[in-house]
Amino acid sequence: MNSREKLKNVKRIVVKVGTSTLTYENGKLNLNRIEKLARVLSDLKNRGLEVILVSSGAIGVGVGKLGLKKKPSITMEKQAAAAVGQCELMYLYDKMFSEYGYVTAQVLLTKDVLDNVERKRNVTNTFITLIKMGVIPIVNENDAVSVEQIEFGDNDTLSALVATLTDAEALVILTDIDGLHAENPKENPDAELISEVDKITDEIKELAGGAGSSRGTGGMITKIMAAEIAEKAGIHTIVCDGSDPKILYKIFDGKEIGTIFNA
Ligand code: GLU
Repeated sequence: MNSREKLKNVKRIVVKVGTSTLTYENGKLNLNRIEKLARVLSDLKNRGLEVILVSSGAIGVGVGKLGLKKKPSITMEKQAAAAVGQCELMYLYDKMFSEYGYVTAQVLLTKDVLDNVERKRNVTNTFITLIKMGVIPIVNENDAVSVEQIEFGDNDTLSALVATLTDAEALVILTDIDGLHAENPKENPDAELISEVDKITDEIKELAGGAGSSRGTGGMITKIMAAEIAEKAGIHTIVCDGSDPKILYKIFDGKEIGTIFNA
């Protein structure tokens, strides 16, 4: 059975959604998209899947809510914006998921939690208990307390660690591009989409604008790093365009969507 086919039978999934998918360019929330995301994820739960959502957006939403002109560069201000935005994000998620009968839970993590055996075990137990209760855990980095020494840095990495922690079978990273391309799509709009990656090699990292390359492709490298963490744990990663959350149906119907990084 190929890996796309296998996706038809997975039970536990982690879905990661980034700030660019959740907000408009002016920083305001894309309510239509968040609503659709909540609806599709609830429907996947109805199908019998266990869903964990890793959501960014705290800083972006906080910036909008505080009326700041742009994302602050000072750590303390970023942390303050995240504390404001996380609240708003969870308020919305809670409201939208509850419309479909689902309970959500907020889980905020810092890297030092996962580096400590006991704390890691504690949070794993919390995840497993929430999933058993039918709750949708919504995870973000605890930006309000997270400074450089203890941060994951990006939610792509965080989502892969959460997938590993919870023994998920698939990780879907929803982003603003339809997957990994054979060339930088910003430079060549006709660049071919790579549908399947069996092994994450240096060449693949280079395509994503890895170290030493000047062809940055808008955050693809952190997605590849995340896929590498997931791959080692036997988890498939799919990177795809999150502008229409219904794409998740196609993925779990085994259709050829985005780029799949095989476990
Ligand atoms: N934790 C950050 C936030 O919620 C986002 C980090 C990321 O986008 O990777 O704003």
